[in-house]
Parts: sequence; structure tokens; C-alpha cells
Amino acid sequence: MTDFIDKLKNSAKDILFPVRCPYCETVIHKTEYACENCKKKFPSPAIIKYAVGGYKCTSPFPYDGIFKKAVKKFKFGNKGGYAKQLAFPMVQSILESYQGVNFDLITCVPMHKKRLAQRGYNQAELLAKECAKIMNIPYCDTLEKFKENLEQHSIKASERAKNVMGVYRIIDKELIKDKKILIIDDIITTGHTLGECAKILMKKGCKSVDCAVLCSVIMS
Ligand SMILES: [Zn+2]
Repeated sequence: MTDFIDKLKNSAKDILFPVRCPYCETVIHKTEYACENCKKKFPSPAIIKYAVGGYKCTSPFPYDGIFKKAVKKFKFGNKGGYAKQLAFPMVQSILESYQGVNFDLITCVPMHKKRLAQRGYNQAELLAKECAKIMNIPYCDTLEKFKENLEQHSIKASERAKNVMGVYRIIDKELIKDKKILIIDDIITTGHTLGECAKILMKKGCKSVDCAVLCSVIMS
């Protein structure tokens, strides 16, 4: 009987809250991560950039077209639920770019608690947790943002380095000691944010840091 009720609840949920393609919002099967049409637009191979300090960063998509639209909805349109679908192409790019690396833990670029309260979720954390689930690697909060700063996308490239300096700190250095860490964010632009986070993790005793994001801004 409970089984039957659970099934009923689940199918009601599927009807009321169908899974949608994050890129075009058509309804897709709940086990899918995109519609067939959008999947055809996925580029290959993975895009490689380097964060400040030389940390490798992989991503499946450029910050452009349907991918840029999806990130904006995910980030500002209260569509945090898309993390589940968006993590799939991210994991593909991670596996492709870091063959043979056994990460000990996955973490994310943290958000200041004031901004977290405004938005309701940290999009980088949602992506990191979904990637961790798919890859069967523990997720762990390792850094906190203890100082508020301006949003990186709102300021000039030349001021971005200074803007992220000294705003993050380690939560517990025992957690990261000798660990191979994969740090996740939603977008890489100049790579100052990821570079600053990676620098702190390395300084506090982890073994290695690599990065992954959903979209890379391609500079012309
Ligand atoms: Zn689609």
C-alpha cells in the first residue's frame, strides 16, 4: 500500500513539476539532461582555460547562445533545480580533461551569507553537489567568503584581481590536508576568483587543485 501511495505521489509530482530542458525549457523525460535538439548543439571537446596562478579549468560550454541563457535562468531566474541536468555535461568535461586523476573531494566557490540570503541558493554549490553525486566523490565546504565585495561581472577586468583578494578563508585545514581537490564555479571569466580560492587551498596544505565550471567566457 505504501509502495502504491509513493508511486502515486511520484507520478503526481512528474505531472505537476515536469523536468524541463535547461536550455530551451521543453519537457523532457526525468532521466534526461537535455532535449535531443539542444544536445546536438553541445560543443566538443571540452573547453580548457587557466585560472590565475595556472590552475587548469575545464568546461563543457562557452558563455554564449543557449548556454548563456541557461546559466542566467539557473542563476537569476530561481531555477536552482536545473543543477541536476546542468551537472551532466560538466561531469563529461571533467572526465575528459582529468583522465586518471582521482579527486578526494569536490568543493565550490562560496557565496557571502548576505548574498546567499538574497538569492536563496549558491548556484556553484548546487552544481558541485550534483557533480559529486554523479562522480561518487564526497562534497565538502572548504572555504567561506567572509568579506563582501562587488560582483566580479559588475567591474572592469583590471580591478578584478584586487576585488577578490582577502575575501575568502579556509573553514578547516584538516579537511583539505593532502587532498586532491576539484573546485567548481558556474562561470570562468578572468579566472581571478577561482585562482584566489585555489591559492588559499594550496597554501593551507592540500595536494592539488583543479577547476571545473559550466561556462567559459571566451576572450577575443
Ligand atoms: Zn532543449
